[in-house]
Amino acid sequence: MLESHCCRVQLQLKLKDHRFSTGNLHLPAHPLAALLHPSMLRHMLRPAVMHLHNTTAASAHAAWSPRVQQRCTAAAPTGGSEPNTASSSKSSSGKASSSALQPQAAVPSQAAAAAAAPQPPPKPRQAFSFCRMCGGPVELALPEGDTLWRHQCTRCGYIDYQNPRLVVGCIVQHEGRILLCRRGIEPQRGLWTVPAGYLECGESTAAGAARETWEEAGAHVEIDAPYCTWDIPGISQVYVLFRGRLAAPYTFAAREPESLEAALFEPEAIPWDQLAFSSVSIALRSYIADLASGTFRVHHGAIQKRPGSGPNEAGSFTLEDHIQMPTTLPSH
Ligand SMILES: [Zn+2]
Repeated sequence: MLESHCCRVQLQLKLKDHRFSTGNLHLPAHPLAALLHPSMLRHMLRPAVMHLHNTTAASAHAAWSPRVQQRCTAAAPTGGSEPNTASSSKSSSGKASSSALQPQAAVPSQAAAAAAAPQPPPKPRQAFSFCRMCGGPVELALPEGDTLWRHQCTRCGYIDYQNPRLVVGCIVQHEGRILLCRRGIEPQRGLWTVPAGYLECGESTAAGAARETWEEAGAHVEIDAPYCTWDIPGISQVYVLFRGRLAAPYTFAAREPESLEAALFEPEAIPWDQLAFSSVSIALRSYIADLASGTFRVHHGAIQKRPGSGPNEAGSFTLEDHIQMPTTLPSH
């Protein structure tokens, strides 16, 4: 009866002392839905949570807390008669609407009334002033049907969407040692990293990782598998790192100006206090733990950074929603 299984999740939105909750959201019945990790569900539902947050009156100063409150694999109820199980409504665009918010019993009615009135999200800082298409003046605007502020040209109407950047790179192993480069450019000049950099347009992530390995370490790499994906929402970046092995002719060399030095490190000799980025530090710790266990996993998680902290400041970041998917591939 796998076909009748479903996942029911409930989203909670905390607004100061008040809590609102969606009804149970029924994910599409699918045999694999029951196997989803709760943190994966949180990722899947984050856009809906952000929408609820942005369309709620008190959102400007509220802390929000999406959380999977309930999962089950029982057959979907047909009546929705449980407390807080009102069906989530959908707007015409298919997104969950704020009317899905159901105040819990302890919430004052005034707060519920306020929550029903959509308000624009806080206006962010304007990042640039001129349109890339026509050179006209740009201002922040809330386009019709959108929920976030956008940079929009006042002359031609072009909307310049700002989206996270993708960083690709590679953890390269050779005879049990790991290839690192000492950065020759800012940020973090003089500190160590794995070869990595921004993905170029028209390039696959694996090709980008191999290119960066050549550009920063002068090494050819044979990529074995994806290794980790780290979301870093605080700086709007996503890291995609692969793992691989040094390929023939098995040479490497720092390539200026990007790198000052390239070297192979035994796992126990990694210069932890001289690593450039939190993403690299977490990736290498995961990699070395996998090496020790004899099996590589594929990792995913979100690095939450303290606002205003440095790229790899001790105690300034945490890895959340860490998913480790086992593979059958041996580590060596
Ligand atoms: Zn324009």
